[in-house]
Amino acid sequence: MSVQALGYLRIGSDKLDDWSSFATGWLGMQATDGANASRAFRMDDRRQRLIVDRELPDTERCFGWELADAAALDALAERLEQAGVAVRREPAALADQRFVRELISFADPAGNRLEAFHGAHVADEPFRPGRGIAGFRTGTLGMGHVVLMVPQMETALPFYRDLLGLRISDYIRGHPTAYFLRANARHHSVALFETPKQGLHHLMMELFVLDDVGAGYDIALGEADRVAVTLGRHPNDLVTSFYMRTPSNFLVEYGWGGREIDDATWQPSEMTSVSSFWGHKGLIRSVAGDAAPPEQVTPPGSGGRHAPLQVAEGTYQQVSGVCPWWDALAERSRASAA
Ligand code: FE
Repeated sequence: MSVQALGYLRIGSDKLDDWSSFATGWLGMQATDGANASRAFRMDDRRQRLIVDRELPDTERCFGWELADAAALDALAERLEQAGVAVRREPAALADQRFVRELISFADPAGNRLEAFHGAHVADEPFRPGRGIAGFRTGTLGMGHVVLMVPQMETALPFYRDLLGLRISDYIRGHPTAYFLRANARHHSVALFETPKQGLHHLMMELFVLDDVGAGYDIALGEADRVAVTLGRHPNDLVTSFYMRTPSNFLVEYGWGGREIDDATWQPSEMTSVSSFWGHKGLIRSVAGDAAPPEQVTPPGSGGRHAPLQVAEGTYQQVSGVCPWWDALAERSRASAA
């Protein structure tokens, strides 16, 4: 059975206090009672979504993938073992620490530690955000997405697609080669970028309300060098976001308005460019480093690239059409699409 969502992220860092103030004051997560050596943070009804552990090496990341039930977890373990991947059935004590019912662990071809689980514990208390945000968009979509820089696409892609069961949403070949893979309706739960560098590039967290991303941008702009990538909009998942530096050496993409994909009708397609509709200055350099080619800047007005906003019920109000010129244009484009 396939993984359903990115359930949690666990990272090694000894900067526990820095992470506490960053996760609560900047991201709006809720700190839970952490052990001496670790801190855990909530973003919804789950007991924890992000765990920062001093006892792990600083570069160590562990990605927690969620499955439907025990049968699905067993089937995944079997599929991995048949493909020659070493799988460890973790003891109940470790599952308790992760607040899940059952847990296995293994590594991807790049050496990242992965865990797969079912039966995540739900907290008794409602989520209380660390700053005044309306909340994160999680649920069946999981905690967000991660982007991994991998040395070899030819081993990484089959692992995530054929063994974990993720589906390709879209891809680009060359400069860089990248695949965006989904586990649920979120456009991607993981993206793989083939680069000489290796490791976690960013974790994307999606807010329900655009204003919370804007207020987060204000806070981040208040500190020199906190913003790594400016506000912009992606052409494939349609997320409007910016990227912040964290106390560790990866970024958090703080976004809003991600599209949902219908498996029944979606066809994977090759993108001609990963460059954004607008903004996101610094993104290409953050992936490829100083060796990056100069970022292509689309001259204003030449691109004409836009897409409808992806809004959740209760977060918008429709305005009346009051402009005959625009209404006629919209009518013509509807007619030509029909
Ligand atoms: Fe992203």
